[in-house]
Amino acid sequence: MRRFTGRVAFITGAASGIGRATALAFAKEGARVAITDRAEAALDRLRTEIEAEGGEAIAIRCDVSVPEEVEAAVARTVARFGRLDCAFNNAGVENEAAPVHAIALDAWDRILTINLRGTFLCMKHELAQMLRQGGGVVVNTASGAGIRGVAGGASYAASKHALIGLTKSAALDYAKANIRVNAVLPGNIATPMMDRFTGGDIQKAIDLEPVGRLGKPEEIAEAVLWMCSDLGAFVTGAAISVDGGWSL
Ligand code: NAD
Repeated sequence: MRRFTGRVAFITGAASGIGRATALAFAKEGARVAITDRAEAALDRLRTEIEAEGGEAIAIRCDVSVPEEVEAAVARTVARFGRLDCAFNNAGVENEAAPVHAIALDAWDRILTINLRGTFLCMKHELAQMLRQGGGVVVNTASGAGIRGVAGGASYAASKHALIGLTKSAALDYAKANIRVNAVLPGNIATPMMDRFTGGDIQKAIDLEPVGRLGKPEEIAEAVLWMCSDLGAFVTGAAISVDGGWSL
């Protein structure tokens, strides 16, 4: 028996990096997966890959900053699979490095709109469905930048700090409703976002990591699956670092 047989997982930002690895891990463990992203072609490739390995997936184009698209994505998932047990709100974007006085207002708004408002929008619809069906688990992707400052990264760090407050508050809102809400805080992980962030100079990121290497997206996926599984049944409102010691 695999860990998620009979369960349904909904994943945002599933076309790349951490979301992709987590979608593959859920499918491998027997979950039916709704993979969502704004990058449609990569999403379709992932659906084909999951199906080729014997899994079941629906690919839904969804920009988390568009309220109607988020509502429709959750509704399509429930229409197809009948329920929504695990929601991984992971879609996010990095900022262009700038000190606070030099951040353009539209650049600030873009980061907060996708990383924070997008996660809130997803939670709003996921949690309504989980209440209707009597339970579920939400995991939000924050960051080590959710518990420490980042020079040149104020908008990103602010969005990720806020996500942790959102996570903890929602955990309290639904604690008696059999719904758990947690956050995973990745360190420096080898994904396309990290390539963009370092401009290809990966050693810069490796040097930040006490353990001397980048994390793998699969290592974040494993923590997410644990939080979503029955083994994590007493864990809610937690912000769990998976970061090689970066945030210490
Ligand atoms: P990535 O760029 O490889 O993947 C992010 C995915 O999110 C992409 O497929 C992208 O199309 C999608 N996306 C972006 N904006 C979207 C939107 N508005 N609507 C829907 N989808 C959207 O990045 P990643 O490294 O896998 O990052 C995933 C999450 O992990 C992000 O929230 C990021 O902030 C967080 N994170 C990453 C690291 C790291 O080192 N890579 C560290 C800490 C936190």
